[in-house]
Amino acid sequence: MYNVMSPKAEEFISHEEILDCLAYGEQHKTDRALIEQILQKARLRKGLSHREAIVLLDCALEDLNQEIYRLAEQIKQDFYGNRIVMFAPLYLSNYCVNGCVYCPYHAKNKHIARKKLTQEEIVKEVTALQDMGHKRLALEAGEDPKNNPIEYILECIKTIYGIKHKNGAIRRVNVNIAATTVEEYRMLKEAGIGTYILFQETYHKENYQRLHPTGPKHDYAYHTEAHDRAMDGGIDDVGLGVLFGLNNYRYDFTGILMHAEHLEAYKGVGPHTISVPRVRRADDIDPDDFDDGIDDATFAKLVACIRIAVPYTGMIVSTRESQACRERVLHLGISQISGGSKTSVGGYVEEEAEEDNSAQFDVSDNRSLDEVVKWLMEMGYVPSFCTACYREGRTGDRFMTLLKSGQIVNCCHPNALMTLKEYLEDYASADTKKIGDALIEKELNTITNPVVRDKVVDYLAHIHEGKRDFRF
Ligand code: SF4
Ligand code: SF4
Repeated sequence: MYNVMSPKAEEFISHEEILDCLAYGEQHKTDRALIEQILQKARLRKGLSHREAIVLLDCALEDLNQEIYRLAEQIKQDFYGNRIVMFAPLYLSNYCVNGCVYCPYHAKNKHIARKKLTQEEIVKEVTALQDMGHKRLALEAGEDPKNNPIEYILECIKTIYGIKHKNGAIRRVNVNIAATTVEEYRMLKEAGIGTYILFQETYHKENYQRLHPTGPKHDYAYHTEAHDRAMDGGIDDVGLGVLFGLNNYRYDFTGILMHAEHLEAYKGVGPHTISVPRVRRADDIDPDDFDDGIDDATFAKLVACIRIAVPYTGMIVSTRESQACRERVLHLGISQISGGSKTSVGGYVEEEAEEDNSAQFDVSDNRSLDEVVKWLMEMGYVPSFCTACYREGRTGDRFMTLLKSGQIVNCCHPNALMTLKEYLEDYASADTKKIGDALIEKELNTITNPVVRDKVVDYLAHIHEGKRDFRF
């Protein structure tokens, strides 16, 4: 039985409730009055229930679909303005005991090169990332209690935060590791992580078990309830994600929204981020083996509908997606992207030979961070390397309150300009710097509070002189 407040995965993600919603969406896909009524509610920017959101996702009326896209863009603008937060993944180890059939790190894959970074190698990888200009990382590691125990992850985090190279620093480490215990989540919290991210892959229990035939990840309930345990361990910000292509997208769209509703109702804070990866080609993996792949148009609609249904959540798209696809979904709701990513273990320092391939997936967007930053600015976005909230203690419900009231914008925009300025001074090519400096000049005019604007102008001058790390 469906119960948003239940601690049990099968009750807060009820299969029957999802099936019922899918039938409801199908039944009302041309119901103009209902769709308009839902859009009216969505304009209040307070979000939608999963049942309302599926009706928008299924909407088959072209003019109303255009309205859905317009509204998603508007909500994105209201909550996030024209800023895009930048991050990079860092693969620590691809040893894994699980059997996920869509991931080349699965235990039975004998032809992928297995690697685990030593602390010395981490210093080199992170120095390379700092030299690109990154300030925010997402750590990735397979599940392997022998090779990648929690002590290893904690040691890596400590090493990463301790690396200060020229003006570089990693100021926020987000972690994407396997579901674990409250005790280990507490250790991650104490190590100073930002967001704990765990993808559900699919919310369909039967398919989930089929796609994860062996290893601890096979346990659907343990995996699905992991975010609750992370919050019990004191982690304020958790991230959700579905790997689209593994299962019917309507099912997983409904599932992820139910999960978001559960976190908000049961833990008092909804998901800090929602990621929307699609299955990609990799060693041992052919996306055509999966029947539920979605095209770019459907992907765009998914992004728009998640943006409308959960206006407060950050939305992430990685370099799995091509430049063209990323361009489209940036308008519709994405607020964070990776740039210059390497998806192999040790990939930032050394190009891998074909036979040494340790990558988790093939990257579609191969541009450097500088190229991505320039591209964003040419489209009128402000690339942001801001990590201020976590460092100012603005996390969990404190962060959500500021975000939902719209006040966070007063911090985000100045912080984006100042961290972009740091990037331009320290890492940008001459071309990118020129465009960026002009953009900052222009964007200063949009800060309406004269006291804040004067402060930003002053801080920008200090950054130009070599000082770093100003923030609101
Ligand atoms: Fe291991 Fe994660 Fe890949 Fe599964 S998805 S095989 S848990 S690294
Ligand atoms: Fe993110 Fe906070 Fe920085 Fe805004 S001020 S970009 S919400 S870290």
